[in-house]
Amino acid sequence: MIKFVDLSKQYDSIKSEIDDAISSVISETEFVGGKNVRSFADEFAKYLGIKHCITCANGTDAIEIALKSLGIGKGDEVIVPSHTWISTSEAVTMTGAKPVFVDTLSYYYTINPREIENHITGRTKAIIPVHLFGLPADMDSIMMIAKKYKLFVLEDCAQAHGAKIDGKLVGTFGDIATFSFYPSKNLGAYGDAGCIVTNNDELSEKTKLIANHGQLIKHEHKIEGRNSRMDGLQAAILSAKLKYLNDWNEKRINNAKLYNEYLKDISQVRTPSTIEGFTHVYYVYCIKTLDRENLREFLNSKGIETTIHYPRMLPMLDAYNYINQSPGEFKISYEYQPYILSLPMYPELAEEEINYICDTIREFYSLKV
Ligand SMILES: *Cc1c(COP(=O)(O)O)cnc(C)c1O
Repeated sequence: MIKFVDLSKQYDSIKSEIDDAISSVISETEFVGGKNVRSFADEFAKYLGIKHCITCANGTDAIEIALKSLGIGKGDEVIVPSHTWISTSEAVTMTGAKPVFVDTLSYYYTINPREIENHITGRTKAIIPVHLFGLPADMDSIMMIAKKYKLFVLEDCAQAHGAKIDGKLVGTFGDIATFSFYPSKNLGAYGDAGCIVTNNDELSEKTKLIANHGQLIKHEHKIEGRNSRMDGLQAAILSAKLKYLNDWNEKRINNAKLYNEYLKDISQVRTPSTIEGFTHVYYVYCIKTLDRENLREFLNSKGIETTIHYPRMLPMLDAYNYINQSPGEFKISYEYQPYILSLPMYPELAEEEINYICDTIREFYSLKV
């Protein structure tokens, strides 16, 4: 059985470091906030080469808090891609603003910058590019559009810890950026966790206030905020794991190379594309194929778990019926939606396993002809 993601292999490889980190948090009783959270925030900011890292409870909260720090709320519109995890648009709605969906690019799956301008109105306040699957969005074009229309840019980096464009890490392009440390992400905690990063002192201050009941000093509530804090266990685990992030990303990249190599002779399968100068960190290895459902079933019968990121584009979900949008407005993402399939991908996936998966895909297509 090859699981879609196997987190136990990673734990086994650094078991003593993780166990030590957990037991020290417990003996220090630093359960919420505290020194482990402060040191992880410093380490992650240093990793990115950014001034501030503000920790919070999860990646969805991070987006909502970042938007609020930008002053976004009722009456405002925020541009989001039609193809992403629902957190991106959900967080916009939670601030009282309206998510405005924009189509994506067919080979890269990220927001199509050429479509953004058509959706800008007098109410548009921000753009949220998502570095989907680990591939950076076209930040050059997005930053140019944002500058022209004076819009904020919030990068949703939940799937792209360590991804780069010409050596510059994602999370450092926009006004503010957010990360999720959900367990399966490239840098994952052992529970929920997230953070916001920025070079802007004022935004850093505001997000800190919002995430912790409006207080920087205990009982000095400057505003009403909320409870969205990282706990000490997650921070200690993340600190232990951060040291390995670059190695693990290298392994994902190498696994993607092996997949590309073993799949290249199968004409029915399109392997993922990357862009010259862009470092794709393969949170997801997504192929396109016309026979997705049958292939998926076949792989499953051979002990290979796959998944779909995501079965339906956001504007087509029941949650967004009220926006009343037609598939024609998201031609590209709507068109590829039935063909995308995510193959197992994690750093510890072995070459023999990738070989077996690709042979099984080859077998499926040779049985068909
Ligand atoms: C995982 C994810 C988030 C946030 O996830 P949480 O589970 O709330 O930490 C946000 N955006 C995208 C694109 C994601 O994949």
